[in-house]
This record gives sequence, C-alpha cells and structure tokens, in this order.
Amino acid sequence: MPKKGHVPERTCIVCKRKMPKKELLRFCVKENKIILDRFQKEGGRGAYICSDCLPKIKNLKTKRKLFYSLRIKTNLIEIEYEKQ
Ligand SMILES: [Zn+2]
Repeated sequence: MPKKGHVPERTCIVCKRKMPKKELLRFCVKENKIILDRFQKEGGRGAYICSDCLPKIKNLKTKRKLFYSLRIKTNLIEIEYEKQ
C-alpha cells in the first residue's frame, strides 16, 4: 500500500517537468488516433503533457515528441482531444 501523501509523478514530455500524475493530461493511442485519456484508464503506452504545454500540441515539434513517446512512426495519425 502506498503511504498516505505519496503522489505518483510523471514527466511532461514537452517541458520535462515532473508533476503529480493527476495534474497531467495523458494521451494514448486508440483506433489509430491519439486520444486524451481523460480518466487515465486506457491501457498501453501513454504520454503525459502538462496543461501549460497543451496549447503547444499543434506545433510540429511537440507533435513529434508526442509521436516519439507513443512510438508512432507515421505523421498521418490524428490527434483528438477535448479541453475540459
Ligand atoms: Zn509541460
């Protein structure tokens, strides 16, 4: 059992800051699309992005980082996400 007060941390793939998992947005691949895993419940590989970096997701450089983190080898995949 994790001790009370222990917060799982993940690193934002864009700015490399470590943050509590809950404060990051998790992206994963589903049906050949990158989706926002809003409840962090989807299986498979995930990539985490902080809310500060989220607006940069449309930049090619950021996209490439996301693709790289998710081991995607094509540029044709769509990114689907909704802001909460
Ligand atoms: Zn960030």
